[in-house]
Amino acid sequence: MNVIKSKEETLLKKLHQKLDPMMEDILGKMAAYCNDYDADVVRNAYQFGMKAHLHQKRYSGEPYFEHCLNVAKILADLRMDQTTIVAGLLHDVVEDTPFELEDIRNEFGKNVALLVDGVTKISELKFESKELRQAETFRKMLLSMARDVRVIIIKFADRLHNVRTLDHVPERKRPRIALETRDVYAPLAHRFGIASIKWEMEDLALKHLEPEAYNELAKKIKLTRAERERYIKNISDPIIEEMKKNNIHPQISGRPKSFFSIYNKMKKRNRPFEEIYDLLAIRIIVEKVEECYYTLGIIHSLYNPVYDRFKDYIAMPKINGYQSLHTTVVGPDGKMVEIQIRTKAMHVLAEDGIAAHWKYKHGDSDEDPNIEAALNWVKELLDRQVSEDAGEFMEDLKIDLFHDEVFLFSPKGDLYKLPADSSPIDFAYAVHTKVGNHCIGAKVNGKIVPLRTTLKSGDQVEIITSQNQKPSQDWLNFVKTSKARHWIKKVIREEQQAQTRDIGTEILNKFLKKYKLTEKSPEFQDVIPKMGFSNLESLIVAIGRGEVVTDAILKKLYPNKPAAPPKEESFFKKYLKRSRDSSGIRVQGLDNMLINFARCCHPVPGDSIIGYLSRGKGVTIHRSDCKNLIYLLEEKQRIIDVEWDTEKNQEFLVHLRVIGEDRKDLLRDITNCVSKQDINIVSVTFSAEDLYARGNLNVEVKDLHHLTKVINNINKLPGVFSVERVNEGN
Ligand code: MN
Repeated sequence: MNVIKSKEETLLKKLHQKLDPMMEDILGKMAAYCNDYDADVVRNAYQFGMKAHLHQKRYSGEPYFEHCLNVAKILADLRMDQTTIVAGLLHDVVEDTPFELEDIRNEFGKNVALLVDGVTKISELKFESKELRQAETFRKMLLSMARDVRVIIIKFADRLHNVRTLDHVPERKRPRIALETRDVYAPLAHRFGIASIKWEMEDLALKHLEPEAYNELAKKIKLTRAERERYIKNISDPIIEEMKKNNIHPQISGRPKSFFSIYNKMKKRNRPFEEIYDLLAIRIIVEKVEECYYTLGIIHSLYNPVYDRFKDYIAMPKINGYQSLHTTVVGPDGKMVEIQIRTKAMHVLAEDGIAAHWKYKHGDSDEDPNIEAALNWVKELLDRQVSEDAGEFMEDLKIDLFHDEVFLFSPKGDLYKLPADSSPIDFAYAVHTKVGNHCIGAKVNGKIVPLRTTLKSGDQVEIITSQNQKPSQDWLNFVKTSKARHWIKKVIREEQQAQTRDIGTEILNKFLKKYKLTEKSPEFQDVIPKMGFSNLESLIVAIGRGEVVTDAILKKLYPNKPAAPPKEESFFKKYLKRSRDSSGIRVQGLDNMLINFARCCHPVPGDSIIGYLSRGKGVTIHRSDCKNLIYLLEEKQRIIDVEWDTEKNQEFLVHLRVIGEDRKDLLRDITNCVSKQDINIVSVTFSAEDLYARGNLNVEVKDLHHLTKVINNINKLPGVFSVERVNEGN
């Protein structure tokens, strides 16, 4: 006993010797910005954490608690409050040591415990797919953040120190951590405006993901440093001189661009380092806002600005709160230099983002409008997550995290910030969900424009709505905001569900009627749970989707009865054929399948066809040579063998394109020819261009034979050059 105890004491003593200076350093930092902190409480957390992690070591061989101290130090550099620093010191206690949350609550109070709990809950997740893992990590972080923003700030500090020390982690584990840092943590840090952490995370991730490129870049940046510094001095000296004359005393620094951003530029432009010219960047920090604009004037009078590179993020801050003036000027030798001008306060916000907002408030309430705005974004994302799968969630999130912005105005002059390349539909949804859902047209700067128009900064957008208008699938091809995507998909999904329900109800009622039952009949009510459904509704939906066939219900209803005679089967088959578009197709092994024809290739009987099982939509029938199948075939398990099984008097829609001489009566001759074949014309459009006439016909034919005949006959008409069966959109 005594031996063990003294061993522990020796260990503790050694740890104290090693770590005490770090603790004092943190307390020194806190003293500089905190006026209401209690050094004893922080020291107590230090003692507690050190003992809890006493026997643990990092991969580097260093005592584990050194990591916790480093996390607390990063938090102190962000000037976080005492509660956050204490939680930072203790953030791994619950996850990695025998101590429990209860112990922390008893010792350090409810607020520290809540933060530690939040950090613990964003634990490492191991999912099969990268997408799912990312989505789940994001979701957990957002959830914990919705409770208290400080949780995510601690998590950022934790991850930052972990990537700083990634060299010591076994090699096989590094790529996953580096990727997650680049794709999850850095974008989130950016969204919350914490640029200092974002840059470092991205650079460290690059170092481990592309070590060769990183080392090469590091070498080149180092080699060219002296030259760059000289150039920057040359360009900034006249600016400083001019500013001093006007009694402005700026801090000017050559701003090192991050490795990650240089690397991205080289990749994007496919150019070597030597040809990336805009490596030169200067940051000017002044006291007051008006000095920013004054300085800008001085710079533009000394050097020629590059047209369209000036951005006023002071008047229009970025979504993450960032404010600055940006301009690019042409310096001596024709080199381009990026210049940022901002006040000291803006600079702190630009580096520390939401963490900077935090330190201006007192107590634990969320009154700061900037924190509020960040939290609203988080909450909205979480609300949506309920109805979306991992892939969609990530897609939405990426839109929100990685876009550039345009500034738009309503007719009343209200300002809206949307992602670059947004459409009037995006604008409509930004105004209100209802406006988006009923958007039928738009005016931009007073002129009616197509809904897929790309909006530009400064546009004034007016949305025209109609109560009868509904979102269209086509909108998804051009909308840019996650909000618009979300609502369009939601409305379409709900319509599909309603359709599925209607079909299910129809099939079920027909079936029940045949056996003289109703939905209320006790024997049928008994069957619902036996079929594995909690209520009638979900059974109906499953029937509508083709997941449950009525035969299966019959077997549960009358278990002792022999299987239904074939006649019964054909009754349902026939019923289905009549009741919906599924007619004419036999799907192997699946009887009551919801079937629809692909709108891209419009198959007709006689065409070689293939079935594609889409979630919630049943089977879609494509022609085997449809070009869309290239994408669909990637998911082989969804491909189903189907064959034609047509009954009489069924018609199938086909698009024909006719090209001919622009002569009188051509249109009449073609339509006559088609009608003579007993073919129904659904729609015709004709246009003439130079000497050519181009016709688009939508016709209904019985089968391939029928179609071939009509094509041949049109071909024989005088002045017709070609008749083609075309895919939608061609
Ligand atoms: Mn940790």
